[in-house]
Amino acid sequence: MKMPVLFIGHGSPMNIILKNDFTRRLAKLGKELPRPRTILVISAHWLTDGTYVTSVQKPKTIYDFYGFPNELYRLDYPSPGSPEDAKLITELAKKPVIKNDYAWGLDHAAWSILKHIYPSADIPVIELSLDYSPYNGWNRQSLQYFYELARQLGPLREKGVLIIGSGNIVHNLRVVDMENMDAKPYEWAIEFDEKVKRDLLDRNHKDLLDCQNMNRATSLSVPTLDHYLPMICAIGMQETDDALEFIYEGFQNRSISMRCFKIG
Ligand code: ZN
Repeated sequence: MKMPVLFIGHGSPMNIILKNDFTRRLAKLGKELPRPRTILVISAHWLTDGTYVTSVQKPKTIYDFYGFPNELYRLDYPSPGSPEDAKLITELAKKPVIKNDYAWGLDHAAWSILKHIYPSADIPVIELSLDYSPYNGWNRQSLQYFYELARQLGPLREKGVLIIGSGNIVHNLRVVDMENMDAKPYEWAIEFDEKVKRDLLDRNHKDLLDCQNMNRATSLSVPTLDHYLPMICAIGMQETDDALEFIYEGFQNRSISMRCFKIG
C-alpha cells in the first residue's frame, strides 16, 4: 500500500504538552493513517552542509529549544531508528549524494509532532537534513534543488515509509507573540498563507518554487528558508494521481501558520 506524504506545521515546542485543536488533530491523524514501516521526517531544524540521513539504531531525543518549562525537557521520544531504511535512502538519491549520520537524533521538528501522532513511539523514525550551505542561497534554483531531491525519495512510499515534511509555511520569529498562542495573526501572514493554500490546491508548484519576485507578505512570512523547505520537499513527492487535502489550518503566536496537508 502506497503511503501518503504529510506536511506538518509544527509551531512552538509548547505544543508538545498542550491539548489544543492542533494537537488533538494530530492525535486523530495517527489513528486514521495506515501504520507505516518507518517514518522519515524532513526537518526544518536540521540544517547541514550537504544532505544527511540519521543512521543509528537508537536516535536520541534532542532538546533544541531554550527557555521553555522544565516539563518539556523531561519528556522524550524513545522510538527506534532504521539504519536499513537510511541505507535505502542513500541508494535512492542519485544527486545529491545523501550521507549517513551517526550523531544527530530526533529534533523537535520530529518528536514534538510524533508525540501526538504516534504516542507509543514504537515505529522506527529517521530524519533527513536540509542542505543549508552557502551555495544554497535564497533563489529559485535552490528551491528546485530540494524539490528534485524529494522527488527521488518518492518510491519509499510504496515500501511503507511515511514521509513527513515538518516546518511552517509562515514562520517569522522576529515578530512572534510568544506570550499569546491565540493572538490574532498579522494580515501579511494570512495573505501569504492563503496564497500558498490556493497554489497547493491548483498544483501551482511553479509559483510555490518561485520566490524571486518577493512581495512584502512573502518576505515577512518566509524571512529564512528553513521552515518553508520541508513544504517544498512534500510537494516534490506529489504524483499526478495524488490528491491534496488540508488536515489543519490556523495560526499560532501571530506569525506562525499551522497549516498541515496530506498528499495521496
Ligand atoms: Zn520550528
